[in-house]
Amino acid sequence: MRGTYTPRVELDLVFLGTSASMPTARRAPAALLLRRGGERLLFDCAEGTQRQLQRSAVGLPEIEDVFLTHLHADHVLGLPGMLKTFALRGREGPGVMVHGPRGTRELFGHLRPFLGRLPYPLAIVELSPGDVLERGEYRLEAFAVDHGVSAIGYLLVEEDRPGRFDVDAADALGVPSGRERGILQAGDPVTLADGTVVTPDEVLGPARPGRKIAITGDTAPSPSVIQAAYRANLLVHEATFGDEDKERARETLHATATEAAQVAKLAEVRMLALTHVSPRYAGGEIAREARATFASTVVPRDFDTIEVPFPERGEPRLVKGGGAGEGARAYDPSAMSRMVQVATAGDVTEAEQLQELLRDAGIEAQVEADSEDDGLRVLVPEDSLEAAEDAIEALSEPDDLIAEP
Ligand SMILES: [Zn+2]
Ligand SMILES: [Zn+2]
Repeated sequence: MRGTYTPRVELDLVFLGTSASMPTARRAPAALLLRRGGERLLFDCAEGTQRQLQRSAVGLPEIEDVFLTHLHADHVLGLPGMLKTFALRGREGPGVMVHGPRGTRELFGHLRPFLGRLPYPLAIVELSPGDVLERGEYRLEAFAVDHGVSAIGYLLVEEDRPGRFDVDAADALGVPSGRERGILQAGDPVTLADGTVVTPDEVLGPARPGRKIAITGDTAPSPSVIQAAYRANLLVHEATFGDEDKERARETLHATATEAAQVAKLAEVRMLALTHVSPRYAGGEIAREARATFASTVVPRDFDTIEVPFPERGEPRLVKGGGAGEGARAYDPSAMSRMVQVATAGDVTEAEQLQELLRDAGIEAQVEADSEDDGLRVLVPEDSLEAAEDAIEALSEPDDLIAEP
């Protein structure tokens, strides 16, 4: 069997909060859990994050590493409560290390009175763009973003892995199976019983690249993000707004879906995941706009996951509801007949097309004028919302990006 010496390390991201600024009925504010092997890295920790974790299939693990992209309330307010819960659970160790941009230490100075005494160690580590944390098989790098405040993005970059072990070559050279092959696989030469020296390059193929994940946090489209995310397997970029709110995106130093897609295209990433979606959007329209520029775009909802396999094992895939626990599925039955927005339409023709598409999916949609601007809102019964979003997204969704949970 080939490649038997390479350990397989699973890597996925659980989207715990995908809303911008404030929670909505369906989306919590920013939080993202990256799971790599047995490690759990939490990126941002908005209000309610510990409950999102409890509702997820993950549960609330004893998180040891938190990475804050910036200190806006919609990214950090969940932290004091989660740290208190760890204390109430009687945690004495391991400690929690909170990484964040310049200013994180000062924030915790203010939080101290709320936190009180914690029975476990809490360390604060401030990072600047370019700082690197070596973590064995991978490194984490902070990179510059453009959000008008002290803010950083994070890169996870795995080290190259040894090449594929060529069993036939090893057999031909007389390398016995067992310990010697492990040594060669690890990159060291071995001396055989007859005195022959076999070097790793005789039995190993070319080194195989690891995975690269980029997480921006809040940012306007920025050359520093393009550079950092270059050829990443997955770029998680904010897309607070759609094209129609481009002006607002400029004023608030956020990105539109199209801008994020342009960043992904220039960075030549394999997949773009858009998050931090303004409460005025449902998600489908953000996906449609971005895919016009960059086809491999997904807009995860809360509790969706993205699996990122080693490159030779395939492309990253969105798993809808892949991180949902029992609690995430239960919802208020009284809300079932309410009409909720599933999309915005630029004009009547587009609205009618959406209505017809939804009718084909067995969903009766209504259209009403948007009071805030001259667009149209497409509404569906809340209990059909998920199906309606799926139907709309399927319009432009490349099949191979999506997997069933
Ligand atoms: Zn934000
Ligand atoms: Zn922000």
